[in-house]
Amino acid sequence: MMAFIQYTMQIIISFLFITMMSVMLPRAMVSAKRVSDVLTSDISIEDKGTIKAFAQEGSLVFENVTFKYEGAHENVIEDISFEAEKGKTTAIIGSTGSGKTTIVNLIPRFLEVTSGKIYLDGVETRQIPMSVIRDKVSIVPQKSVLFSGTIASNIEYAKSIRSYKKVKNAAEISQSMDFINSKSEGLDSKVSQGGSNLSGGQKQRVSIARALALKPRILFFDEPTSALDPELTGEILEVIRLLADDHMTMVIVTHEMSFARAISNRVIFMADGYIVEEGAPEQIFERPTQERTKQFLAHYQ
Ligand code: ADP
Repeated sequence: MMAFIQYTMQIIISFLFITMMSVMLPRAMVSAKRVSDVLTSDISIEDKGTIKAFAQEGSLVFENVTFKYEGAHENVIEDISFEAEKGKTTAIIGSTGSGKTTIVNLIPRFLEVTSGKIYLDGVETRQIPMSVIRDKVSIVPQKSVLFSGTIASNIEYAKSIRSYKKVKNAAEISQSMDFINSKSEGLDSKVSQGGSNLSGGQKQRVSIARALALKPRILFFDEPTSALDPELTGEILEVIRLLADDHMTMVIVTHEMSFARAISNRVIFMADGYIVEEGAPEQIFERPTQERTKQFLAHYQ
C-alpha cells in the first residue's frame, strides 16, 4: 500500500513539474532575450576621447548647451552658457523640474549633449576619456547611497583608493571624524545596507568624504541638504564653507536661496530649462524681489 502511494505521488509531482515547466519555459525565453538585448546593445555615448594633459585645472564652461531626453518632445535645458571659475563656488538655483540635475549629469557624460559644448579644464569633454573626466569630477548626489560594509569601505569606494591615509584625510575634511571617533571601531565601524544605522547628516558627510577621497578638481553637490533638517543643513554648510576656504571649485545645485546665498561666489537662476539670471550673490539678492519674480514669470508665459 505504502509503495503504491509513493509511486502515485511521484507520478503526480512529475506531472506538476511538467505543467510548471510549460509555464516557466516561455517566460525564461523572454527574459533571456531581454538580457541578451541589454548585453548586445550598442553604447550610445562613445568614449573616444584621447586628451589627458590639460593646461589649466578646476574650470568648467558650458557653451550654448541644449539637451533633450530621448523620445521627449521638448528640450529639457536650452542654450545654457555659464562658467564655474576655478576655486570658486557656483550655485545653480531653480525650482523642481527646471533641469538642474540634468546639467550635473551632462558633465561626467552620463548623458550626451544634444547641441553645444562643455569644456572641462579648457578641453571639450567629448575629447577627454571618460575615466579621466570621472577622476576630475566628483558628485555628491541628492540622496547619499551607502553600502553594507564599514565606513572606510564606503569612503574608499572608488577603485583607485587603497590607502588608509587618504580615507582618513577625506573623512577629516568632510568633518566626519567626530562621529567616527565616537564609535568604538572608528573607521572600521559597520555600516548596514543603505546606511540605516547612521543619521541623515552622518550619511551625507560620509558621502562627501567618498567624493573627496578621489581628490577631484571639481566637486558637484546635487541638492545636498534637501533631505536634512535645519540643524544638519547648518553642519553640511559648514563642511562646504571649509572646502570653499580651501579653494575647491564647487558647483552646488539647490532650490534653497538662503543656502546658495550663504556659500556661493556666483549664482545662476534657472527656470523651465533656461538661465534667467546670473551674477554675484550680492548683486542678485540685493535686487528687489519683484524684478526677479517678473523675470521668472516672463519665461513661463
Ligand atoms: P531638477 O533637478 O531641476 O528638479 P531635472 O533635471 O531632474 O530637474 O528634470 C528636468 C526635467 O526633465 C523634468 O521635467 C523631468 O520630468 C525631465 N526628466 C528628467 N529625467 C528624465 C528622463 N530620464 N527621461 C525623460 N525626462 C526626464
